[in-house]
Amino acid sequence: MSFLSGKNILITGIASERSIAWGIAQAMRREGAQIACTYPNEKMKPRVEGLAEKLGADAVLPCDAASDAEIAELFSELGKKWEHLDALVHSIAYAPREELNGMFLDAVSRDGFNTAHEISSYSFAALARAARPMMRAGGALLTLTYIGSLRAMPGYNVMGLAKASLEANVRYLAQSLGADGIRVNAISAGPIRTLAASGIANFKKMLAHFEKAAPLGRAITIEEVGNAAAFLCSDLASGITGEITYVDGGFSTVGISERFIAE
Ligand code: NAD
Repeated sequence: MSFLSGKNILITGIASERSIAWGIAQAMRREGAQIACTYPNEKMKPRVEGLAEKLGADAVLPCDAASDAEIAELFSELGKKWEHLDALVHSIAYAPREELNGMFLDAVSRDGFNTAHEISSYSFAALARAARPMMRAGGALLTLTYIGSLRAMPGYNVMGLAKASLEANVRYLAQSLGADGIRVNAISAGPIRTLAASGIANFKKMLAHFEKAAPLGRAITIEEVGNAAAFLCSDLASGITGEITYVDGGFSTVGISERFIAE
């Protein structure tokens, strides 16, 4: 039997077939889940609706993560489709483009800092709070992070701070929701060419360095992140919460790559 059979899962952050959320949605469908997905604005609506149709999603609903009213409306509408929710995937991040170029100290601004933290970290707690009444039987929350939270990366700048906040968010939400049987985890993914990644200056060079340094010696795929996400949101992971799981070909585990020595 498929290991997500009969589960109702809400997935945010599908923007294209390159999106990490798309890899997650496909893995979860394959494992038998019913999926609902969201779009952030009217401009994105037709694109996400097309992808949702391909996926065989049960519902496609609007949700701008910056709006409390839209978050409340999302769960009110979802409650009309599904009696309960088993898992929620938060695959949302945003920082103004000018924040993601040059040195952090030259680029960072009060507004850019606030926006990056609000959309990329606070929204996870906001969605968790709104989802809670539909998760009375327990369930799983999952978000996506990047190692720029722990190590300074060129051009990642204020997003690194926002991801550090998001990872702390995972631990505090896990503590807040543990008694409800709701598990909260993150996947720290290696770099993948997506729309969000295209906003980071020198992303290509960072990817080339990653491929050389990671023990697996290659980029990782949205399918690999999707499989790990499906596992973490399933009952197979019932003992795991508050964790950051690396799906990064081992990049986070090495200091200096053997490949540099061998050259
Ligand atoms: P993507 O561009 O496909 O997805 C980003 C999503 O965020 C989009 O669907 C976009 O609509 C959504 N979004 C932005 N602002 C929003 C708002 N106000 N309300 C609702 N949704 C909003 O890119 P991706 O790489 O798949 O990013 C998904 C997640 O994975 C992000 O959290 C990103 O930081 C993380 N991540 C990406 C990489 C990578 O290299 N691509 C690596 C590690 C982690």
